[in-house]
Amino acid sequence: MDYVNDKKTALVTGANKGIGFAIAQGLGKIGFTVAVGARDTARRDEAVARLRAEGIDAFGVALDVTSDDSATAAAKTVEQTTGRLDVLVNNAGISGPMADGVQNPSTLDLDVVRTVLDTNVFGVVRVTNAMLPLLRRAESARIVNMSSNMGSLALQTGPQMAAYAPSKTLLNSLTAQYARELADTNVLVNAACPGYVATDFTGFAAPRTAEQGAAIAIELATLPDDGPRGGFFDDEGVVPW
Ligand code: NAP
Repeated sequence: MDYVNDKKTALVTGANKGIGFAIAQGLGKIGFTVAVGARDTARRDEAVARLRAEGIDAFGVALDVTSDDSATAAAKTVEQTTGRLDVLVNNAGISGPMADGVQNPSTLDLDVVRTVLDTNVFGVVRVTNAMLPLLRRAESARIVNMSSNMGSLALQTGPQMAAYAPSKTLLNSLTAQYARELADTNVLVNAACPGYVATDFTGFAAPRTAEQGAAIAIELATLPDDGPRGGFFDDEGVVPW
């Protein structure tokens, strides 16, 4: 095995900015080779350059999570570059447009719902299924789905978001489904809530830093083999479904 292949590889989707970039940075700092999944070439190259300038072993992976072909090609890129994948962080996500800061169900444009689901839910299935053959080959693989406590039916936090919140509820349910299917494997699947984080997503009007938001994803990406499966966690512990 050469030097690169001895290091674990982590793919982070939507890693060009925000929480995804901070996850890539955090995993890179603890010794992962980081595959920077991003759909825009210039933004991807810039993120890879920033990570490399910090001494992180990073490479770019063209990845639009709404495209089957892109997900398939991304798996090939990872396989050809490091020959392995140990961690997948499904971080890419969108809120969809709002009116006066909310998405009310009574005025919901179903095209908005479809668009949000295509990225936040179908995108996770697309990318996960494209990467699973590589992940199954890894000794201790981890999948982290970046969810939100807005998807918690028990908590119902934040403003009314009738497209975004259900997308994360569905993602939570899918997390449990994947964990059940992979129960007898070394692939641990969990969902993470980053808290309320200052990024483009929130117009930077939120109290937590991207690094703070990334911490729980990094923890779930580096769980021991006897760690939890099919759970939903934030910095404080278990988030109610
Ligand atoms: P952000 O700064 O807006 O970053 C979102 C990332 O997702 C960007 O890299 C974006 O790429 C990427 N993305 C969107 N659509 C994509 C697609 N089709 N293919 C590939 N990449 C795509 O948001 P963030 O705050 O870091 O959010 C990251 C995750 O955390 C999301 O899943 C979000 O739902 C979740 N979350 C955030 C908060 C918060 O308070 N910020 C709270 C709870 C959960 P482009 O630059 O190309 O658009």
